[in-house]
Amino acid sequence: MSIFEQWGVTPIINATGSVTRLGGAVMPPEVIAAFSAAASDACSLEELQVAASRILAHHTGAAAGIVTAGCAAGLTLGTAAILAGLDAGRMERLPRPAPGDRHEFLVAREQRNGYDHAVRAAGATLVEVGFNEIVSNAGVRRTETWEYGAAITERTAGILYIAAADARPRLQEVVDLAHRHCLPVLVDAAGEVLPRNTLPDLVATGADLVACSGGKALRGPQSTGILCGRAELVGSALLQMLDMDEHPELWSPPAILPERRRLSGQPRHGLGRGFKVSKEEIAALLTAVELFFSGHYDRERSQQLTWLRQIAGQIPAPSRWELVDPPDGQRFPVLEVVVAEQALQKSAFEICRALRDGNPRIYVGHGQLSQGRLVIHPLCLTETKSIQVAERLKVELTPSG
Ligand SMILES: *Cc1c(COP(=O)(O)O)cnc(C)c1O
Repeated sequence: MSIFEQWGVTPIINATGSVTRLGGAVMPPEVIAAFSAAASDACSLEELQVAASRILAHHTGAAAGIVTAGCAAGLTLGTAAILAGLDAGRMERLPRPAPGDRHEFLVAREQRNGYDHAVRAAGATLVEVGFNEIVSNAGVRRTETWEYGAAITERTAGILYIAAADARPRLQEVVDLAHRHCLPVLVDAAGEVLPRNTLPDLVATGADLVACSGGKALRGPQSTGILCGRAELVGSALLQMLDMDEHPELWSPPAILPERRRLSGQPRHGLGRGFKVSKEEIAALLTAVELFFSGHYDRERSQQLTWLRQIAGQIPAPSRWELVDPPDGQRFPVLEVVVAEQALQKSAFEICRALRDGNPRIYVGHGQLSQGRLVIHPLCLTETKSIQVAERLKVELTPSG
């Protein structure tokens, strides 16, 4: 029996990957063990974050890093760090920057998305550059680097960049431009950690802060993330998240901050106080990071392909399937099921709903439903679950009569 049933909640089979709505990725046993072990002991959260910084710096190549309450929290904290720096007065005023303070972030219009609310939440105003001509079917050009340059004013505080393999212009060009204007770049790399060198490569561009999710491909707790980058900014972010209720006589700044950089005072609880990360979550995320960067997860790929092929073998005609196996471990392999909507007299949306409402309840990837495709993602599957997925798909896709 699933633990959720004792509260009347029916468990689901997640065949759609690490989506937040379904609780993210399932954690490997080593990560769960770290979570439990940390639950029965106490430590200073600040010291644990300083230790986390050493480990995250080692793996990403950044000067410093902290565990945040997800990528979105990392974006809010990263923005707060850029807006306030090490000025306790500025930290106190957020999310309302002082009149005259730089508070605008440039972002390519084609990169706007619902997660940029996290940047606005810290008090930044987004200023769009470029167009989205390909989506509007009005042209062939993507955003160009000069368009960021042309939009910089005395109100510009930084540049927000959403990382993706095909993002344009290239991050390196945007970072070089920003640094010529002494502006920092904040990168949302939430789900973009595959292959394993992705995060180090993003950091190596010189981007000032990079945020990613801990509960997606890293398989840490769903409520974790990483914010890494320049020590001064990461330190500012940590100060704005940590509990600050300590006597000035007993307090000293976290060891992440470069010594020569002076805080203007001991900040009070900051903008990120609501984004607390527990010692259990930090221990679990660090364990997940070690597993990820050791290549431990890569070995599961052949197993995942086997499950997908087994499911494919059960898809009845006239529906078809395609196994998408991106080279170089760039993304997870997925099985795309092309629903024979005409023959079945059912749309992919209806099949998707039937799978969700059936027994067992199954959630498949819904990104291509309007093209008549269901996507099967192997991240949260097991041998047993993949057999159940195959059985239910066979039932739903078998033409009646
Ligand atoms: C998932 C996602 C986020 C949010 O990540 P959390 O770890 O859930 O906070 C932010 N940006 C993008 C592009 C994402 O895909």
